[in-house]
Amino acid sequence: MFLHRNVSGAALLLAAALGGCSAGEDLVATGAVSLGRVESQHGRVTWVEARRRGGGTDVTGGLVRGEGSTHRVNGHVDVALLDAEGRLVRSVQTPEMHVRPSRPGHGLRQSRFAARLPVAAADGSRLRVTYHPGPPCGDGGP
Ligand SMILES: [Zn+2]
Repeated sequence: MFLHRNVSGAALLLAAALGGCSAGEDLVATGAVSLGRVESQHGRVTWVEARRRGGGTDVTGGLVRGEGSTHRVNGHVDVALLDAEGRLVRSVQTPEMHVRPSRPGHGLRQSRFAARLPVAAADGSRLRVTYHPGPPCGDGGP
């Protein structure tokens, strides 16, 4: 079990050390980008951070599986960037990943995901983050 805040801090330092581009602030924390989490019985996205970097946007977050979801072990996350009017700008999917099951009495067991949008999120845009069980569903477009 790791502490995601420490991990993202380390990733931020690494990005700053490697690139000429300064890693930006978390757009979700500053309110530049609003967040729409789509919950389902299969899983719930617990936190999301988004940072502009190198002309794109790095999106990281955590998710937990739904209480009743015990039969699927793997899943993926769809990340969609919408403009201020709600039109789809770009969407990406993570590869299929292991998602830890939640067990009664053990609290929330978080899994971490990361995706990179090839465009920089504009102020006022929205991120919609959805967990789907199974392999990437192919509805994300190019
Ligand atoms: Zn999907």
